[in-house]
Amino acid sequence: MSEIELIVDFHKDAERQGPGSPEETLRAFALTRLNPGDELQVADIGCGTGSQTLSLASVLRKSRFTTVDLFPEFLQRLRNRWAELGLEDRLTTVEASMDQLPFDKEQFDLIWSEGSIYNMGFDSGIRYWRKFLKPGGCLAVSEVTWTTAERPAAIEDFWKKEYPQIQTASVKIGQLEEGGYAPLGYFVLSRESWIDNYYKPMEQRFSAFLQRHPSSELLEKVIDEHRKEIQLYMEYKDYYSYGFYVARRL
Ligand code: SAH
Repeated sequence: MSEIELIVDFHKDAERQGPGSPEETLRAFALTRLNPGDELQVADIGCGTGSQTLSLASVLRKSRFTTVDLFPEFLQRLRNRWAELGLEDRLTTVEASMDQLPFDKEQFDLIWSEGSIYNMGFDSGIRYWRKFLKPGGCLAVSEVTWTTAERPAAIEDFWKKEYPQIQTASVKIGQLEEGGYAPLGYFVLSRESWIDNYYKPMEQRFSAFLQRHPSSELLEKVIDEHRKEIQLYMEYKDYYSYGFYVARRL
């Protein structure tokens, strides 16, 4: 297996592939001021196995959802979850890259994306996706964000290498304004969303993951990188989190 295949295999049985919670998904939705009783067209980009899509579907009872991911394994799991709940007639899954979307102009009332826009970069992503929103439609994106004006060099260096577009919220909100959106709200994800909902379940998957693959340097590397990510968060969680950004297309 290649490195990316191992990473997908490690994450495909997980509830979520990034920090978040049902409460925070619904809090972000409330910031859009869209009417949950309307028949909205919703896209969820970089959906993974789709916990956040299900949270949205539980309140948007008439809406239709189009979920996008690069990896079919995640989309299959998402479809199974929807089928178990009898929701599949409101779902379309699309295997595509978030920077090459097969959508029409002004197709959606709401574009959702939790913990995935970094794959094309926040600024490029919000600018590219804008045309797929109806005027007045909303965007809700969670994105890694500095939560203080200054931070230790060790964590600054790590993120500058990993994702140079990490910024404070004021910078990201400015990018939304420059990109043709009216910001509607911003909040920071809770520590429980990182630790209880993402990292603890991840730690519980390490041993089964190790057992189902032959040992190799690549396998060690994948495990080490995930462990390092957890350690960094535990040590430096005062300085970064995911910010949830909600904005209306102008
Ligand atoms: N929104 C989910 C998953 C976040 S992890 C959650 O919060 O749990 C990031 C997701 O982006 C993964 O599912 C990954 O497969 C997907 N992804 C990575 N690169 C992508 C790309 N270029 N286009 C679409 N999806 C991509």
